[in-house]
This record gives sequence, structure tokens and C-alpha cells, in this order.
Amino acid sequence: MSKQTLSFQAEVAQLLHLVTHSLYSNQEIFLRELVSNASDACDKLRFEAMADSALYEDAPNLEVRLSVDPAAKTLTITDNGIGMSAQEAIDHLGTIAKSGTKDFMGKLTGDQKADAQLIGQFGVGFYSGFIVADKITVESRRAGLPPEQGVRWISGGTGEFEVEAITRAARGTSVILHLREDAAEYLNAWKLKQVIAKYSDHISLPILMEKEEWKDSDKEGEPGAMVKTGEWETVNKASALWTRPKKDITEAQYQDFYKAISHDFENPLTWSHNRVEGNTEYTQLLYIPAKAPFDLWNRDKKAGVKLYVKRVFIMDDAEALMPTYLRFVKGVIDSADLPLNVSRELLQESRDVRAIREGSTKRVLSMLEDLAKHDQHTTGEGADGVTDVVSEEDKAKEGKYTQFYAEFGAVLKEGLGEDFANRERIAKLLRFASTTTDTVSVGFADYKARMKEGQEAIYYITADTLAAAKKSPQLEVFKKKGIEVLLMTDRVDEWALNYLHDFDGTPLQSVAKGAVDLGKLQDEAEKKAAEEAAEAFKPVLAQLKEALKDKAQDVRVTTRLVDSPACLVVEEGGMSNQLARLLKQAGQ
Ligand code: ADP
Ligand code: MG
Repeated sequence: MSKQTLSFQAEVAQLLHLVTHSLYSNQEIFLRELVSNASDACDKLRFEAMADSALYEDAPNLEVRLSVDPAAKTLTITDNGIGMSAQEAIDHLGTIAKSGTKDFMGKLTGDQKADAQLIGQFGVGFYSGFIVADKITVESRRAGLPPEQGVRWISGGTGEFEVEAITRAARGTSVILHLREDAAEYLNAWKLKQVIAKYSDHISLPILMEKEEWKDSDKEGEPGAMVKTGEWETVNKASALWTRPKKDITEAQYQDFYKAISHDFENPLTWSHNRVEGNTEYTQLLYIPAKAPFDLWNRDKKAGVKLYVKRVFIMDDAEALMPTYLRFVKGVIDSADLPLNVSRELLQESRDVRAIREGSTKRVLSMLEDLAKHDQHTTGEGADGVTDVVSEEDKAKEGKYTQFYAEFGAVLKEGLGEDFANRERIAKLLRFASTTTDTVSVGFADYKARMKEGQEAIYYITADTLAAAKKSPQLEVFKKKGIEVLLMTDRVDEWALNYLHDFDGTPLQSVAKGAVDLGKLQDEAEKKAAEEAAEAFKPVLAQLKEALKDKAQDVRVTTRLVDSPACLVVEEGGMSNQLARLLKQAGQ
């Protein structure tokens, strides 16, 4: 293949521009990304070599090496993983395959800070090299291809890149960063070790750097210098964080590990680390992020839990480990029972995996319950007259559930339809606005505790917005009688509530459906008046029914209105106006 110049896919060019302009304050993440790619490449080789051990060639020890050349101002990250063919280099380093890329691009605002946040959630991967480099050279050869089928890829990070064939004896990839002036500190071994310790200690491969030694100058009066010794040392701990005892892991280490596996810039909201023993043994380290990723609504997006078997990485997006409605959870599950060559198909069928999934689901729900419990802790005198003592730990959890719910509440609701076994627990975790508060803070249990004497149902209404819900004429009688109504404005509410008929024995009742029966909340006089009115208006109703016969199924006298002359309702068990509108929008 002779040298070719190719253009980046439009999205890549756009992303590169952002990377170099917005990620300045997160410079060091480039190393995390490139080391993680090197590590992924080694995992892929290990995986393919299970079927074809010849792929190891004569280098069975997988590793990553960092080396610097101060004179040339380059930093090189080399791995002996799977490598890339020329076509793979063109495809993988010139385009973005991620789904939702277009959406993401559309959300960018031009405001550097906001965009940096978004890009962090999107994950810039390989292109983060351009935060510190004004030119990147990649040299690679795919495992199993002959040395002459190596490839060199070069780009200055603007619109184009060059590729040409090279001969490369070693399998794997070298990423050579030509550092910008302002990134010269990454020529410094000490700085590199510091960043590795922060983000890559858990990587189970050795990351090697060439040892340097101080050497005095031979010439009188000239300063000495650090010189390379030709010897390589391992600079990461290469210990899987989750296998260490909890008491030996600091909060900062848990947070750094989260950032490393999630590629997030921010600390997680909370996490849970456990060894589960019994029929199925595994370790789980599960995190709840603070911010929703840009592609949260893409139900096909990669799951965030990585599967390991006895510390060996198996797969990244093991959707069998976590139900879809918990797709925001990140973390690691390390099983002692699964075979190393477990396939996706096998995962779906394995009893151990089912046990792990159930256990992990319960663990996430208890993390959320714990946050919910501590969400609004009021200090001071409790009902028993004793002043509560709030621990620092409890205090740190205040407000976190509200934050969680604002980001992920709508996804959690999908669980009502997806996870029947945990429906009650999920229902308890849900929060809504209501006619007594605009903040999304009312749980079904709070609502029940405030129900009026004689009230027999939990009333709710669904609408597109809070304002629309509040203006709804169907609320009039409830306002007049001082009965709280939950205001539901998430798109999934209508669908999710199909799966929840009652909460703790109290039925849920839409105020926009059927003939609202206020039961014991109506006094005798009101009931009588309603019956009389129905009788008196019979002829009018018959006329109206006739006039509206193609448009309305029935016309009734109602007690739900106070000021408005009329309103539309849906028959009991029918599709609500809101759902009908949604389906129409979706073209159904
Ligand atoms: P991601 O790692 O999320 O796939 P990246 O932008 O980090 O995205 O990398 C893009 C792709 O480039 C990878 O999926 C992989 O196919 C290829 N790639 C990057 N670095 C390497 C490497 N060191 N060895 C082999 N392939 C690599
Ligand atoms: Mg990557």
C-alpha cells in the first residue's frame, strides 16, 4: 500500500477541534485513555488466542511500555496486544463508531466548560492524545499478519490523516505522541508515574518504564543528568483493586478507580464493594454515577459492568449482569465460578450469571434505598425528644438521592415493567411532584401518610409539563377538597404505571380516567345533588351524545369540576390522552 491521505469522518474532525480546545484542564486523561486502549488490545489478543494460540507468536507476556525521548519531545505508548491492520487503522482511528454520536454533537453549546463536561461523558478515547500532542504517529501490526503488513498512521489532528504500509517485526501497537510545548511535563518520568498511579494501577497488565539513573558528568564543572539504564521496571501495582480488602482501600482510590473504568471526569455518587459467598461466589464493586451519560436513553448502549473471571477480564458490556433499567450502574463483577472462555451465549444461560444478576440488582436497590433514607436528614430534636446525632458519613449522603433521581429517576421507572420481582422496592424509590409541592420529592409512602380520612386511592395525573398538569380541569374537585394529587410529567410514567396497580394495598387511580369515585370523601348531600343533577340533565345529555356521537363515547354529568364547564376523560382501562398523544408522536 502506498502512502494515502484520507479525511476524517466529519464527526471526528469536529470532536478533535473540541478536544484540543475544551479539554485543556483535563490534560492528563490522555494517558488513561491510551493505556486503557493498550490494555483492551491485550485483552482482545488473549481472547482470540484462546482459539488460536499461534497469535502469541514468540511474545506470550502481554505488557505496555512507556518511553520518552526528550530530544525529540516524544512520549511513546507501546503494547503487544492484538494490533491493527491497515484497514482497521483507517476505520478505527478515522471514524467514530459509537451510536448516538450525532445526537451528542448536536448537544454541544460552544461553552467550553459545559462542553468539556459533555465530552467527558461521551468519552474521547484515542483522540484525547491530541490534548497534549500536535502530531500523533501510530505504528501497528495485527497479530497473525506478516511483518510487511504493518501500518503507519500519522495525523496532526486537523482534517486529515496519512496511512502507509511499513514492516514491523513486533506484533501490537506504538502510539507516538509529539508533545506540544505546553505538555512537556509528560517527558518527565516522575509525572508519568504519578498519572499511572492515579488511573491505571488496577490494570492487570504490567506497565513498564525504563529505569533512569543519575549520572555525574565526566567533565569538571558540568551538571550531571538522568540517563537510561536499559533496564525496565513495572510502574503500576497491577493489582485488581476489587480483590483487596475494603479496609485497605481509601475513598480516593475508589474514586480514581471509578474514573478509570467509567472514563468519567466526576466522582461517583456512591458505591458498594462486597464479596458474595454461597452457591455462587463473586466480588462486586458497583458505582452509581453523579451524572447521566449523553446516551442514557439509548437502551442498546453498552452496559457499564465489566465481567472478570478470577481477575482476568472477560467482557465489557455484559448486559446479562444487570437489568436494562439499571444501565447507568458502572463497575466490576469478578466471578470465581464461570469458565474463562465464557461466551455471550453461555452468559445468557448460566445459572451462576442469573444469581449474580439478581444479587447485583438487589445490591443496587439497597444502595439507592440507603441514599433515599438519608436524603433529607433533619438535625435537631427528633419526635422522641432526643437530639439526633448525625454521623459525618450520614451527612455526606444528604441530598444525594435527589441528585440521583434528577439524573436517573426516569430510567428507574422502567423497572416497574421490567423487574416484577423487585417492583415493590422500585415503587418505594419513586418520587413525584404533587399538588402540594413542585419539587419531585413525594414518594408513594409520603403520599399515603398524608391521605385524608376516608380516602381510598392514590390519585395522580399525567401531563407533558408540570404547568399543564397543574392547570388541568380534572384537578378541580381535588383542589377544592384539599386532596393531594401526584403530578407525573415523565414520558415513561404512563407506560410504567400500567405495571403498578397499587402501592402497599392502596390502588392508584388516574384522575383523568373513568368516573372518579371519591367514595367516602363525598358527603351525603353532595352525592344526592350529583344524582339529582344526573337525572335533571338526562335530556340534555342525550342531545349532546347524539351531537358528539362520532367524537365521544359517552357524555356524563360529573362531580370532578368546580369552575370549568366540561372536560375530557378517558374510560376506565382506556389509553389516556397523554399516552395517545405520545403514540401519535411516535407515528403509531
Ligand atoms: P474505544 O476504546 O472506546 O473503542 P477509542 O477511541 O479509545 O475508543 O479507540 C478506538 C478504536 O481504535 C478501538 O476500539 C480499537 O479498535 C482501536 N485502537 C485504539 N488503540 C489501539 C491499540 N493500542 N491497539 C489496537 N487497537 C487500538
Ligand atoms: Mg478507548
